Amino acid sequence: MAQGHIIPFMELAKLIHHRRRCTITVVSTPANIRALISSFPSTPTFRLVPLPFDPTHHSLPASSESCDTLSTPLFVRLLHASLSLRPAFSFLLSDFLSSPSAPSRLCVIADVPTSWACEVAESLGAHHAVFSTCGAYGTTSYFSLWQHLPHARTDADEFPVPSFPDSFRLNRSQLPSYLRAADGADVWSAFFQPAIATSLRSKSMLCNSVEEVETSGFRLLRNYTGLRVYAVGPLLPFLDEKKSYKRAGKAHGLSVDACLEWLDAHPPASVLYVSFGSQNTISARQTMELAKGIEASGKAFIWVIRPPVEFDIGGEFKNEWLPEGFEERMRESARGVLVRDWAPQLEILSHASTGAFLSHCGWNSALESLSRGVPMIGWPLASEQFYNSVMLEEELGVCVELARGKEVVVPGKEVERVVRVVMGEERGAELRRRAVVLRELLEDSMKEGDGEGKGSSLKAIDEFLEIALSGKSQMN
Ligand code: UDP
Repeated sequence: MAQGHIIPFMELAKLIHHRRRCTITVVSTPANIRALISSFPSTPTFRLVPLPFDPTHHSLPASSESCDTLSTPLFVRLLHASLSLRPAFSFLLSDFLSSPSAPSRLCVIADVPTSWACEVAESLGAHHAVFSTCGAYGTTSYFSLWQHLPHARTDADEFPVPSFPDSFRLNRSQLPSYLRAADGADVWSAFFQPAIATSLRSKSMLCNSVEEVETSGFRLLRNYTGLRVYAVGPLLPFLDEKKSYKRAGKAHGLSVDACLEWLDAHPPASVLYVSFGSQNTISARQTMELAKGIEASGKAFIWVIRPPVEFDIGGEFKNEWLPEGFEERMRESARGVLVRDWAPQLEILSHASTGAFLSHCGWNSALESLSRGVPMIGWPLASEQFYNSVMLEEELGVCVELARGKEVVVPGKEVERVVRVVMGEERGAELRRRAVVLRELLEDSMKEGDGEGKGSSLKAIDEFLEIALSGKSQMN
């Protein structure tokens, strides 16, 4: 129930449908299905099915069916409310299996937060797997942190993470605020610990990443989970289909054409794209310093702007959160565009004028940036973004972390310095070179071909489908 999960799930469904002519059923809540169905109308072999869900029964505002516009306390309430979908899902599956057109093989692929769907599948004798929409390294870190809460066992700022090499340490500042406060008796642990434990009991795991990009991440993930893990990424929409993913109830802040026209007027690799994803936003003081720093850097930019965390993040953005006259100055000089709430991200990243991406390091954003060979400036805010940022910088060499979290205020001067470094000629050139190497690895993983010629992710999905749909037993 968030864009960062819905998009890769739909792409996985389309990939499976393309590779095996099996019938796909995508299940979510009514508003999410409505948002999808206008672009992906149901067909006899590709159906979108809503499960009954009324947010007001869970003390949530009426249209809350996506984590994207909810404050942190409501976000966790929605996660808990999603457990109420289980009986309807169970009914749907039983009905499906007892109908005259019952499939000879059924496989359920569940998101980690809704991994109870695997238990339902198991109880009905169906095959099942979890799909992690995060990378291998991010998934392992997040699983280990929630299951062991290592920060709660020490007063030290730095601590080891179970199942990671001893030399590996995380800092408390790399925990999302709700995980930092978690002690096992809180509402977040009450949701994530059972969801992860159930995921680990599934038959296998699909992961939206590439074996060659996260070699050590996959080693850690397999050791940690003990599951057969399939690297099936990058699951990204084709460019012309990305606009199909409208957010429930939200319009694009700036049309694709307007964005591309604006980018056309700028030289190659000269524009900074700034976005904190579909769910997160920074504080009012951070917004102010970020604006000052970007302006001082002299770089052109497109910034997807949302109200600061202290305010209604689903509401209107007010210019009082920016330096005086900022938006007019930027518009009049054609230096920058502020896009309210939602931008055509993949189109922007695909444009030759985009030179760097200041991102919260959400996994889809990271994959989209890498797939277009665009280096990143990291500002992780929640979930496993903190570990993605470390991996993108230290292991892949395509990112420079600027800041962490929603609390620390990074002065405008530091923003200016990092933007200049990443878009500059020395370190910037090396980051761009690495980003191109990674783009090629991503492309290779999805190459059609026979035998050794076939990309690793296509091999992995074919192998998974062979086991899931033909009833062959697992190899390990
Ligand atoms: N996205 C977009 N326009 C926006 C913000 C986000 O198209 O203005 C898309 C982005 O391209 C990505 C997804 O929403 O596919 C966000 O997923 P990600 O994992 O990066 O972060 P999350 O939003 O889940 O934190």
